[in-house]
Amino acid sequence: MKKTFHIITIGCQMNKSDSERIAFYLESYGFKSVADRSKAGLIIVVTCGIRQSAEDRNYGLFPKFKKENPKAKTVLTGCLSKRKDVQKRLKKYVDIWLPIDDLPELHKHLGLRSKKFAHRQYLEIEPDVKSLFSVFIPIGNGCNNFCSYCVVPYARGREKYRPAKEIVDEARSFLKKGYKEIVLIAQNVNSYQDPKKNIRFPQLLKKVAGLKGNFWVRFSSSHPKDISDDLIDVIAENDKVCKHFHFAVQSGDNEVLRMMNRKYSVEQYRAVVNRIKKKVPGIAITTDVIVGFPGENKKQFANTKKLFNDISYDMAYISQFSPRPQTVAARFKDDVPKVEKKRREEELMKVLRRTSMKNNQFFLNKNIKVLIEGRKKDGSSFGKNEQGKVVKIRDKKIGDLSGKFVLVHIEEVSDFGLKGSLVGK
Ligand code: SF4
Repeated sequence: MKKTFHIITIGCQMNKSDSERIAFYLESYGFKSVADRSKAGLIIVVTCGIRQSAEDRNYGLFPKFKKENPKAKTVLTGCLSKRKDVQKRLKKYVDIWLPIDDLPELHKHLGLRSKKFAHRQYLEIEPDVKSLFSVFIPIGNGCNNFCSYCVVPYARGREKYRPAKEIVDEARSFLKKGYKEIVLIAQNVNSYQDPKKNIRFPQLLKKVAGLKGNFWVRFSSSHPKDISDDLIDVIAENDKVCKHFHFAVQSGDNEVLRMMNRKYSVEQYRAVVNRIKKKVPGIAITTDVIVGFPGENKKQFANTKKLFNDISYDMAYISQFSPRPQTVAARFKDDVPKVEKKRREEELMKVLRRTSMKNNQFFLNKNIKVLIEGRKKDGSSFGKNEQGKVVKIRDKKIGDLSGKFVLVHIEEVSDFGLKGSLVGK
């Protein structure tokens, strides 16, 4: 087998972070990453099972690999790796099925004798981070919540968390290399509990925010039922914690929330948002929502729409319900027609565009701090502010400032972005 590899990542931040660990693992054994998969000895797909469309990509990709590059070994890891029906369907095309927890054992499948990582948990393997200024640091893996539509607890198993010291040390080592953005990730960061010490997520976040350096820290994702006042206080009191809170609402109707097994009511969700907005003025609130959940009638959808109007979200990831094998909701009657799901998605999108546009007005004619992420062909730059808003910088002769914090004067706003001129480096 050629010692070259190509990784395709589908899905969330956690999968991206897993890909970085797989890359480091293989590089430690002398493999080299190649951009052209037809030249790879090993082709790895980090799969996502959250939606049918993400799953379907694999049914197209794997047969293609075998045609394009029959000598390559193929590896399927990520959320679909333990699914029996997927294993049956792709049996002919996948050489190695690798639940991500088994990454330290990959050498056995590849016929490599040295056991470099055999004694480690997979999250203890260093990541090969492609970005030079922003890093995802997983604080744990798995979920215990069993929302009725979600595959994560089956795909990734129950929650396991890393010791706080290991997480803080990893953050510190990236800051020493000059990184400017630390993103702490887990399926539900608020459930974090150090395996040995009495450290919960608010204390962990405070420790990371307390490290030396010119940086900011984000986190994702949170479950509304677990958001504590302690966490809100840490966000409010620490300049280095970005004023952006992402937590999924999924529905604005109590009966639908009950069927989703979300374990909070709309009233409780509203109360959390009110507490956050009161303590952290100007914070951006973003969310995930599902439209067309089994049995969701017009009135129940109208409740979600009303909530969208009232909360005034800055961004939302709106998805149409699709049944996921193994989950409880897969046994419910998927009775909202596709065309109606689409219509509901579009209605929420209209509200979102309006609320986000309204929120963005707040930044007009202000100077804001932006972390530059890249430069376009025409010379202009783009980045994000601490609220996670995409900011475009008109100036074309400022060179490549990727990975630098700058000050931008906002002159124009749109529904999902801000535009302005550089006023300070
Ligand atoms: S909290 Fe619910 S939606 Fe989120 S990962 Fe866990 S089961 Fe899935």
